[in-house]
Amino acid sequence: MRILVVSDLHYALKQFDWLKARAPGFDLVVIAGDLLEVSSIVDRRAQLVVVSAYLRQISQLTRVAICSGNHDLTDRRADGEAAAAWQSDLARDGILADGNSQQVGDVCVTACPWWDGPATRDEIGVFLQGSVPSNGQRWLWLYHAPPSDSVTAWGGARSFGDVALRGWIEKFSPDWVLAGHVHQAPFVKDGGWVDRVDQTWVFNTGQQPGPEPAHIALDLDAGRAYWVSMEGTESIDLNDPSAKPIPLTEWPAIPA
Ligand SMILES: [Zn+2]
Ligand SMILES: [Zn+2]
Repeated sequence: MRILVVSDLHYALKQFDWLKARAPGFDLVVIAGDLLEVSSIVDRRAQLVVVSAYLRQISQLTRVAICSGNHDLTDRRADGEAAAAWQSDLARDGILADGNSQQVGDVCVTACPWWDGPATRDEIGVFLQGSVPSNGQRWLWLYHAPPSDSVTAWGGARSFGDVALRGWIEKFSPDWVLAGHVHQAPFVKDGGWVDRVDQTWVFNTGQQPGPEPAHIALDLDAGRAYWVSMEGTESIDLNDPSAKPIPLTEWPAIPA
């Protein structure tokens, strides 16, 4: 199973075009939050119309999974906490979104919402508890913020990691967590795009300008991950828990 992972597109439409062009080469396309951009001159309701159209088009080409980030919270819940209610509209169209847990290939894929307050945060814990895959199936989470105490959460001057996520990783031991949010983490000293947290591989694609988003290609059957950005390509052997990423000098055997 091959997964194409991006995050933090922030309404960069050229990057959505890029994603649509690449999608057919993968079994699953993941956008790990911050699809919209709060500070854009385009109202987020209008952004949502455009982004939803992209997602529906991509979902005609392959499976799509998304989760909300802090830029995506266009609505208020009854308890006053911010939320991305639009995720459930997309879920009705077959896109795996916030609060969904589904089998994709031989993997259980679970999409967690961004939490703006304690009620949503506690609901995520209950949701994860209820989503534990049966019969030892491998488990993949989408979660916009990376966990605390991880290179994937290092912003260059301080860490922006999620303490609650760290606890859930230690409790539930998912195989992989796909995150974003800390745009600089893969590019700064002491940061990184991949980390081993307890028994779990954690990824943060990072964010870059231009038509091609920083992205990760995950080849689960081969046990390899590739991170591609303007700085080049790195790869890591996921079968080795102590592996570190190594630079590649040429494009590896990942579908174009
Ligand atoms: Zn972001
Ligand atoms: Zn964010």
